[in-house]
Amino acid sequence: MTRPAEPARAAGRHRPRKRLGQHFLTDQRIIDAIVQAIAPQPGQPMVEIGPGLAALTQPLVERLGRLTVIELDRDLALRLRRHAHLQVIQADVLRVDFTALAQTLCATPSTPPTRLRVVGNLPYNISTPILFHLLAHGSAIEDQHFMLQKQVVERMVAKPGGSDYGRLSVMLQWRYAMEKLLHVPPASFAPPPRVDSAVVRMLPHAQPAAVPRPMLEELVQLAFSQRRKLLHHTLGRWLDAHQYAGRFDTRRRAEEVPVQEYLDLAREAHRLIADGKDPSCAGA
Ligand code: SAM
Repeated sequence: MTRPAEPARAAGRHRPRKRLGQHFLTDQRIIDAIVQAIAPQPGQPMVEIGPGLAALTQPLVERLGRLTVIELDRDLALRLRRHAHLQVIQADVLRVDFTALAQTLCATPSTPPTRLRVVGNLPYNISTPILFHLLAHGSAIEDQHFMLQKQVVERMVAKPGGSDYGRLSVMLQWRYAMEKLLHVPPASFAPPPRVDSAVVRMLPHAQPAAVPRPMLEELVQLAFSQRRKLLHHTLGRWLDAHQYAGRFDTRRRAEEVPVQEYLDLAREAHRLIADGKDPSCAGA
């Protein structure tokens, strides 16, 4: 039996809002394991997404001394404001500019610029949009530790060759080294979600390949649009239409292509269009 955490008792007084993905952590063993994985150090600039009833917030702020939290639920934000050592941003995380936040939290005249640590047990209904939103702020972020639906974590860390490998794997592995840390069963939450969960660590690459994101997104989306078919039915048509004459082999399925090859192709395709070799750009 696990000892119920303080938030489990508080949960009795807050009615969880399903539309906000409110499943509150109550398993003290899991809370301890997550905090240990994050390893917060005094003074580090950290942001928690979706603090809820403060299951992670409390142990984190005890170790850090100060913590910034982003919570959409007005009632929960109000409760959190009572805590003297929390900076509470009541907002939709998808509208938060993490680069600007890093500048305000990290920059002091006497210290060199540091980057944000971002953590959270994410609302599962918008976890992928949150991951894509953060992708744009990689250079302002030191690391990310998130609880997500287990299936999503498996897709994030998947290697080529399997059915889990897809758009999410390519787009995120471009920018991060990722590691699945913990498996978390539904019984660790109140109310329990219908799916298993997992904790993932995401470390932004120091120098991610310089690739135009819209081009990479377009090509990867196209490639995985019909993942059972060979690529010459999907991506191949796009490449032919743009008079691509490179070495990318379309006699494969999307899931067989390593991340690096998608990155190289996006760079080449961008150059092709920028150089004006693409007939659809002629005279534009
Ligand atoms: N951290 C708490 C825990 O582990 O018990 C709560 C996690 S719960 C899965 C997700 C939290 O994210 C809820 O507190 C919910 O209100 C909040 N949330 C949902 N959508 C949000 C959004 N768009 N922006 C910020 N917070 C959001």
